[in-house]
Amino acid sequence: MCDTDTDIETEIDGTVTAFCYCGWVEYGHNTETANAAAYAHQNAPDVIDADAFTAAAV
Ligand SMILES: [Zn+2]
Repeated sequence: MCDTDTDIETEIDGTVTAFCYCGWVEYGHNTETANAAAYAHQNAPDVIDADAFTAAAV
């Protein structure tokens, strides 16, 4: 899971980008799916967290 804040932003083309201040980002959402993606990111198990992957790869 991620303790950093997530947010969503509507792009000029109408798609919605979900992002997190940890550096995670997903493009091409609508408002509903972007919120769901951000929620899923924040609650994702540590095993698929980018930081956890980096630590495991060392
Ligand atoms: Zn994050």
